[in-house]
Amino acid sequence: MRATANSPEALRDQLRSVFSRAKVPTNPAIAMEILRLADDPNSTAEQFAQAIRADAALAARLLEMANTAMFAQREPVTTIKRAVTLLGLRRIRMVALGFQLVSHLDRLGGSPFDLKTFWQHSVLRACLAREATATVVPTHAEEAFVIGLLQDCGTLLLVQVLGNEYAEVHASSLTPTAFYHEEKKRFPYDHAEAIHALAQEWNMPDVIAEPLGRHHQPTALTEESSEIDRLAAVSYFVGSLPLAGDLTLAGKEPGLRKYAADQLGLDEVTVQGCLQRAGDAYGQIAPLLADQLPKDLDVTELLDEANRHLSREATEAAARVEEVEAERDLIRDQQYQLKSALGQYRERAARDPLTRLLNRGALVDATLACARDCFDNGAGMAVLFLDIDDFKFINDKYGHHVGDEILRMLADTVLEAIVNAGFAGRYGGEEFVVVLPGLEESDARRKAEQLIEKVRDARPSGDCPSLSITVSIGAVWGQPGAETTPEELFSAADELMYQAKLRGKDRLCFKELPPPADRGASSPDEITTQDFRRIAIELNKSKPKRFASMRKRERQGLLASCDVRCFVSGAATVRTYAGFVRNISTGGLGVLTTRPMLRGEPIEVEIDEKSEQRPLLFLAGLVAFCRHVKDGIYEVGVQLLAQGKEPIIARDATSLKEQQEWVQEALYASHGTGGDLRESA
Ligand code: GH3
Ligand code: MG
Ligand code: MG
Repeated sequence: MRATANSPEALRDQLRSVFSRAKVPTNPAIAMEILRLADDPNSTAEQFAQAIRADAALAARLLEMANTAMFAQREPVTTIKRAVTLLGLRRIRMVALGFQLVSHLDRLGGSPFDLKTFWQHSVLRACLAREATATVVPTHAEEAFVIGLLQDCGTLLLVQVLGNEYAEVHASSLTPTAFYHEEKKRFPYDHAEAIHALAQEWNMPDVIAEPLGRHHQPTALTEESSEIDRLAAVSYFVGSLPLAGDLTLAGKEPGLRKYAADQLGLDEVTVQGCLQRAGDAYGQIAPLLADQLPKDLDVTELLDEANRHLSREATEAAARVEEVEAERDLIRDQQYQLKSALGQYRERAARDPLTRLLNRGALVDATLACARDCFDNGAGMAVLFLDIDDFKFINDKYGHHVGDEILRMLADTVLEAIVNAGFAGRYGGEEFVVVLPGLEESDARRKAEQLIEKVRDARPSGDCPSLSITVSIGAVWGQPGAETTPEELFSAADELMYQAKLRGKDRLCFKELPPPADRGASSPDEITTQDFRRIAIELNKSKPKRFASMRKRERQGLLASCDVRCFVSGAATVRTYAGFVRNISTGGLGVLTTRPMLRGEPIEVEIDEKSEQRPLLFLAGLVAFCRHVKDGIYEVGVQLLAQGKEPIIARDATSLKEQQEWVQEALYASHGTGGDLRESA
């Protein structure tokens, strides 16, 4: 009654139901050794591996575990050694403690079966296989060991499935080859097919599974034979060796002797050497196998103990998981706290502490973002510059604390007036900026007028004298256009605010910025150093002078190209523009650029008159004023920052470096925002 289905897949399917019922038991002596090792806190992974090597069931489990997807190895794991390295002590303990036991060593699945001999032979064949690889596949000695260990496991399954009839054939003293032929004659499966299918079920790599399945088929080897073929040849030789009686080949199995010589290159003497060494290796393992195992043992006790170990492992693993989870929660908490602290810090850094309005850095950032948003969407935007009238007088007469209260009052009034319409910031001292995005020009003008009235009506709270104040507002309304930048809006509004002051204070000066096309400005990209020079000469009404040998009086006439860096915002955006110096005095300088700049913005100027020494001169200061000269060229008045009484000017590399460090701090302080401006450029 041979199996009707011939394909390996069909056979595997048939055998699959068999596997679920059948056991591959572990040698109880090995189980005891494993329990001993598990009890000893000092036992090593290699000691466990040593025990596992002596038991087919555990060796198979170990390789199965190492080849699961969990360890995602590029190359399959084919040796016990590699599996041990990969899995580590804790997992090896778990694998080892998961052994299966049977209570009788002379029965299996209800039929007689000599397990003791089976275990001894499987270890002996493993040792033999390792020796026999010497000439054919020396690099795969350890794989050969595993194959030798597992190759007869098929009989364990078949005796449980096929019962007494199979057990009887197995027990009769046939040579392995004769037994195999008898199996094929009488049963639907043979033990080579069974172990092949089982190896696949265990996900064994082909280099192990295939030689297992072919261990009763002679493989003819050539120079080109693969490693799998070579291992199959060794497997056939080892699997066909009769092990009963003495360990010699002399006089028996002449066909096998010829096979060893022709295919494996093992002559009589070499084979004898192999057998000798295999016998010695087996002798080392034999004590582990406990030659004198009792016929019947109480396996419940062994299993109970293994289970106690396993449940302890499981508890410890659960505790470790809990620990890790607690640690993760803690880190998450800390992250959350850090994030919220950072958020609070950012929020605080963006706010003026007295009025809680945006500070200058945040204001410029917000305006830039808002302008981008408006102009991208084709909407207009208004910028209002507010300055309290005669504020110095209030401070002088009523004291600084009253002045502060007035500043708070103004902030509240502004916020109330523009609720849902825009945002406001404190630009500095008693100057405020209001940005109104998305309004039509007329609506923006009306809002600004209303603001002037509301300020007039406002009174400070608390125990302050019931004072009234007025403000002067310069306001511009800009519409989308490539040339309308927030800086332009700021600086135009600033200029208009001064006009409001000049015209008598407590009033609005409002202007609609003409669309870019009407302004007659050439594109900044088209402006050359020559254009700068021409305009500078015009402004200076003098001939250009060399800068290098400059004397104090001569500075008035200075002309030089330069790089202008301005620190735009709290986010430390540094913009570099081409510029042109038109004069320097002790306290300041005039620079021509293609972009308007904001009053009070910190800037650095590097003058480079094609000198060897770059830069020729380095100056740092704050923008004092900015005006449009003509044709898209602006003049920026820079108030030089002073260190002590000296303005910050460096003429040589060393002092430049020192100056620059100092300037970074000064600019940082004047701008009130953090970060290394230069680095984040
Ligand atoms: P004008 O109408 O031309 O603007 O005159 P003004 O007095 O308002 O102008 P000026 O710029 O000369 O004076 C501004 C004053 O604002 C000087 C300074 O003491 C005061 N100030 C700046 N910041 C603060 C502050 O935080 N608190 C108080 N109480 N006063 C401040
Ligand atoms: Mg002022
Ligand atoms: Mg003022």
